[in-house]
Amino acid sequence: MNKKEENTLRKFAEPIGLAVDHNNGVIYGVYQGYHLYLIRANNNSYSFTVNFSLNKAGELPQQDEVKQVVKESKDIIDCVIQGYQVTYTLRGAMTVSKTVDKLEPSLQTITAFLQKMGYQDACALCGKSDSTVALYTVSGAPAILCDDCFKKQQEAVNIQNREQGNVKENVLSGTVGAFLGSLIGAGAIILLGQFGYVAAISGIVMAICAIKGYELLGKKMTTKGILISSVIMLVMVYIGNRIDWSISVANYYTDVDLFYAFRILPDLIREGYLEASQYYGNLAMVYLFTAIGAIPTIIAAVRDGKQTQESYKMS
Ligand SMILES: [Zn+2]
Repeated sequence: MNKKEENTLRKFAEPIGLAVDHNNGVIYGVYQGYHLYLIRANNNSYSFTVNFSLNKAGELPQQDEVKQVVKESKDIIDCVIQGYQVTYTLRGAMTVSKTVDKLEPSLQTITAFLQKMGYQDACALCGKSDSTVALYTVSGAPAILCDDCFKKQQEAVNIQNREQGNVKENVLSGTVGAFLGSLIGAGAIILLGQFGYVAAISGIVMAICAIKGYELLGKKMTTKGILISSVIMLVMVYIGNRIDWSISVANYYTDVDLFYAFRILPDLIREGYLEASQYYGNLAMVYLFTAIGAIPTIIAAVRDGKQTQESYKMS
């Protein structure tokens, strides 16, 4: 989460005595005796979901009952339950300050209602209400858990991470994958080129297919994988573009076949039968768009490979 976003979230959290977790961007804390956390419903609005974990005399909460509070306020839109977890959706306002003004009354309405109905703060997994119930982050996601359940979750996550960490990169399969992907990319360059479209899309297709191809068959993306995919992309963009032009040449001169056209293409350019600036301009465009497609795809692939999301107590 960036600083600006964190500062915005603080404007919501601090007036009601809650905190912001700067890893996952969750507003969390204890309000009227209930552990809760708030998540932005979507990034474009100031609408939040507020999450509780509750039991009533040790029993699971009932949807019909916890939902009744939705009628008490027009700012509480919805209520969904999943096991012990109860999630309300709050209506946001157009601005930060107007939303801040609405937040506390909504939380007061909900917590007063829950108290009146006899709901207790509880662990979201086992439903136990004891002093160890606290707010945790498990693999990057917030959760209200008791001490025991958190430890169990953490152990499960550790096993999973260890298994993922053990996956070995298979360079040969990855190279085959990148090559197969690049064939799709080259096909796009030729096909779109023949239809007279701008090379933009085909460059991006080339990048995504080659890198995804490596990742898919190689099982993992490393620096080596990036280098191999990049070399394959460089070569295949060149070949795809040259085939595209050769097809046009073969179509134009009826006595020239595709293979011959491909072979003599550099001579045709040198002797001025083809406009060099057009040929190389087009090639440069495909390279440019391959790079534009490759950079975010590589970043995403490397990030996915490294991601070991943390688990910790939020405080
Ligand atoms: Zn528990």
